[in-house]
Amino acid sequence: MHAIAIHGGAGAVPRAQLTPERERLYRDGLAAALDAGYAVLESGGGSLDAVTAAVRVLEDDPLFNAGRGAALTRDGAAELDAAIMEGRQQRAGAVAGVRHVRNPVELARRVMERSRHVLLVGPGAEEFALEEGLTLVPNHYFRTAERVAQLEAEQRGERVSELIPVPRGTVGAVARDRAGNLAAATSTGGMTNKRPGRVGDSPIIGAGTFARNGVCAVSATGHGEYFIRCVAAFHVCAAVEHRGLTLQQAVAEVLHQVLKAMGGDGGLIAVGADGHVVMDFSSDGMFRGARSSEGLHEIAIY
Ligand code: ASP
Repeated sequence: MHAIAIHGGAGAVPRAQLTPERERLYRDGLAAALDAGYAVLESGGGSLDAVTAAVRVLEDDPLFNAGRGAALTRDGAAELDAAIMEGRQQRAGAVAGVRHVRNPVELARRVMERSRHVLLVGPGAEEFALEEGLTLVPNHYFRTAERVAQLEAEQRGERVSELIPVPRGTVGAVARDRAGNLAAATSTGGMTNKRPGRVGDSPIIGAGTFARNGVCAVSATGHGEYFIRCVAAFHVCAAVEHRGLTLQQAVAEVLHQVLKAMGGDGGLIAVGADGHVVMDFSSDGMFRGARSSEGLHEIAIY
């Protein structure tokens, strides 16, 4: 079975604040990403290409907190983090704190495939992007009026979700291809009003992103500091591999026990060795979608 699952972030968007028009935009955005990733799998492509394709679409969509439309630092700039990992050899690539790379997931993939490193940050990452010929854009390309308003609201001390129905909105994808290879990718602008230089869980291998063939691939969203501290994505895989939990149980354990006990919330998407998809969250909702060759086709928010 081939399968893909995506998320567009977990966060507190009170249902009443999400107008039908806006909900449709989110659903359309998720559907476009899901279809882009699934088309790769359907045509016999690999899971790495599938998760890259899906995340790219979400990075380009200003509704989601990754690429264009990223959450802003307290200085009003976008600083982007992303990671990608493949499960066959457990190769991984990640970038953090980049300000000019249009599609951070592509840079993460270049780091994995064309450098000797796993994680590149800031100017060094951008120098590498330049050498690789990736599309670079001025920082204001990422900044949307909505994110500016959110930042201003945060800085006035208002809770963002009370003002504008946009959640944290990180994006991610996990996939299993026909050959049984697993992959995961995550991309984010991080948290609104973060300090410049803050790095979340998304580009930290094992925290926000992890994949291991024969076990599972995982992408996280939520309050990154907590996901780093409990090594969330790796915890899921280790619980499946070493303690015999089902993928569903392992995901639930992290979200509803481990993170909860620490005071963190968020969501996880995962795909197992057999292509079984699990999507769960402890926040009010999580933008998400999944498709498989066995007929699974869903897009949901709450
Ligand atoms: N996990 C992301 C971070 O902390 C935020 C999110 O998922 O919305 O950077």
